Amino acid sequence: MANYRIPVTKPLLPLKSEFEKYLDKIYESGYIANNGPLHNELRERLKEYLGVRNLTLMVNGHSALDIALKALNIKGEVITTPFTFVSTTHALTLNGIKPVFCDIKSTDFTIDEDKIEELITPNTTAIMPVHVYGYRCNVEKIEEIAKRHNLKVIYDAAHAFGVKYKGKALADFGDVSMISFHATKVFNTIEGGALVYQDEKLTRVFDAYKNFGIEGPEITEYVGGNAKMNEFQAAMGLANLSIIKKAIEERKWLTDLYRQRLSGVEGIGFFEPEKVYDDYEYNYSYFPILVDEKYGKTRDELYDYLLENGIYARKYFYPIVTELGCYKKEFEGVALSVAKEVSKKVLCLPLFNGMAMDELNEVCDLLENFKNE
Ligand SMILES: *Cc1c(COP(=O)(O)O)cnc(C)c1O
Repeated sequence: MANYRIPVTKPLLPLKSEFEKYLDKIYESGYIANNGPLHNELRERLKEYLGVRNLTLMVNGHSALDIALKALNIKGEVITTPFTFVSTTHALTLNGIKPVFCDIKSTDFTIDEDKIEELITPNTTAIMPVHVYGYRCNVEKIEEIAKRHNLKVIYDAAHAFGVKYKGKALADFGDVSMISFHATKVFNTIEGGALVYQDEKLTRVFDAYKNFGIEGPEITEYVGGNAKMNEFQAAMGLANLSIIKKAIEERKWLTDLYRQRLSGVEGIGFFEPEKVYDDYEYNYSYFPILVDEKYGKTRDELYDYLLENGIYARKYFYPIVTELGCYKKEFEGVALSVAKEVSKKVLCLPLFNGMAMDELNEVCDLLENFKNE
């Protein structure tokens, strides 16, 4: 473990007394797993908060993706992005599906919708784009392509908790979206996740898949694993849900400070989704910057310098998935020039609830000093 004072993120934690209120309920009910009362309460409260009709809770985001693929019977090839956390690709590969990588846009790092159609073959069954950093994919165009070619759309919306586009939850676009509630995400249930989807008939299927495919005492129609969210996770979720609005406001405030401080630094770029997209409510989940030539130092030099000074920024997402050891051989030749370029320049700066203004200013001071060094 590196020796650092300011990490890239810290988990959102409710007041201990708030969490304890829910723990008391667990001890009263005696339920600790298998769709207990807190699990059901969290599901209903999340539907309301996010403004979605259909939502199924899962033990973590990765398992949720896995179940979406299995329940929708996705096979063959799926068009996806290399600029993501490796979970997206692993979910496909572990289901015997071939990931087909599409390049991203240099503006918002989401899948380049103009390059999707040329990758479609007779084996393509779905598109799995990622709302990376909570920036939205071109959901309208992707829907149009999917309809034209009869493909499913499954979004990895791991970063998109609470994001709204045109008055609707971003996770409510596509056939199914996965949201992650991992400790490092905007909203956490310690670990956890959910599927949000259009077809209410999927509720039964997802519920079965997360519990070994079991639908009744003597009925098992699916080969499913175990991906149930437990009551302690739900307790953390309920306690965090009561502070999430304030937490996102705080993240917005910190993001605005970063933007003010860094807008004048030559060679440092950042994307402002709510100013670029129409009618966008952002969740301020990450603060990625792009370090280009004009900065005078490389991204890696800046990363090392920050680390030497006790600040642990992270190179999300570098290397891109196709350059990771487990995929390199198979996908070496795939042309993904934009994703490669972005991954060499991107750096996520520390952003978390409870981050002090002094800490943020220190990060920005270091960034400026290093440029002028
Ligand atoms: C966090 C994350 C996942 C996996 O979610 P878990 O809840 O950690 O299993 C998948 N995709 C992306 C893009 C993520 O950031």
